[in-house]
Amino acid sequence: MAEDIEKVKCLIIGSGPAGYTAAIYAARANMEPVLYQGSQPGGQLTTTNEVENFPGYPEGVTGPEMMLQLQAQAERFETDVRNGWVTKVDFSGDIHKVWVNDTKEIHADTVIISTGASAKYLGLESEQKYLKLGGGVSACAVCDGFFYRNQEVVIVGAGDSACEEAHYLSKLCKKVTMLVRRDEFRASKIMEARVRNTENIEILFNTETDEVLGDGQVVNGVRVFNNKTNEKHDIPATGFFVAIGHKPNTDIFKDYLDLDETGYIINVPGTSKTNVEGVFVSGDAADHVYRQAVTAAGTGCMAALDAERYLAAKDSTFEVSTSTYN
Ligand SMILES: Cc1cc2nc3c(=O)[nH]c(=O)nc-3n(C[C@H](O)[C@H](O)[C@H](O)COP(=O)(O)OP(=O)(O)OC[C@H]3O[C@@H](n4cnc5c(N)ncnc54)[C@H](O)[C@@H]3O)c2cc1C
Repeated sequence: MAEDIEKVKCLIIGSGPAGYTAAIYAARANMEPVLYQGSQPGGQLTTTNEVENFPGYPEGVTGPEMMLQLQAQAERFETDVRNGWVTKVDFSGDIHKVWVNDTKEIHADTVIISTGASAKYLGLESEQKYLKLGGGVSACAVCDGFFYRNQEVVIVGAGDSACEEAHYLSKLCKKVTMLVRRDEFRASKIMEARVRNTENIEILFNTETDEVLGDGQVVNGVRVFNNKTNEKHDIPATGFFVAIGHKPNTDIFKDYLDLDETGYIINVPGTSKTNVEGVFVSGDAADHVYRQAVTAAGTGCMAALDAERYLAAKDSTFEVSTSTYN
């Protein structure tokens, strides 16, 4: 039996940089936002110790600390931050229906989706061990490449993103070894040519990861095997980058929202609008290109402003706030 239905002006799903930024703007615009944090309060950044590229932190900041500060800022303007996992939605009618933990039903005038995406990993025990230790495994070259300047790294993947990331790393690192599982790339010809023409990128085809090697604390190499000959060899490396794709956390929306073939929500270009009026998207749930905290925060701002304007157009008693700008 559903509990009493709650009505809210603005429901935000997700507590990463996109969700909290949307909350700051929505709260300051009198939209009284309710935000559900999901199973990972603070989002992806809570899994990293060093964030050095978010503006405003000249000395860098740990991911968990930064996300606590974003939460505090959202709460300062009375965002109602709650624990809970959104399990179902129904966007078929004028009222946007959302269920939390399968029981609580909420009817929201506007919904801002900020559910992010999860990087895919190989799933090897050694990979997960050094990932959790923060000891040299990463799924984001732009985020972490800087920490491996003048060092040797290995990257796994064969698509456009993997080529992009390998090329990015090649400008920072002494040597990049790229492991490609098949005997060809999946990437576009132009991206493939870019890595093939970069002197300090070595490409190993038909090659897979056997183990990530290390001293118990940090990575110091990668054992690989040729999947045609089964021959193994070790590659010295201090960083192991995994670039085999991301999975956006959007399954619950698939019956109502337009998604691309990977599951990213398709937004109206230049806005946070989805194909359903009153439902907006921000952050990595719609972004397969940039996937950065600052871009997630930027689109969180856009979603709150779009939601505010939608509400104002729908309800003449709701005034667009001027507080957004002061
Ligand atoms: C290890 C690592 C290091 C990184 N380092 C950097 C860096 O240094 N600099 C940088 O700019 N970027 C970095 N990134 C990328 C950055 O973390 C992401 O781009 C950013 O967090 C995306 O923000 P988001 O708000 O879109 O989503 P996320 O941070 O992914 O947050 C998604 C939120 O949605 C919630 N959620 C999901 N589904 C539901 C549901 N059904 N119901 C309720 N809640 C739900 C989750 O609990 C979570 O709170 C890093 C990523 C990783 C994994």
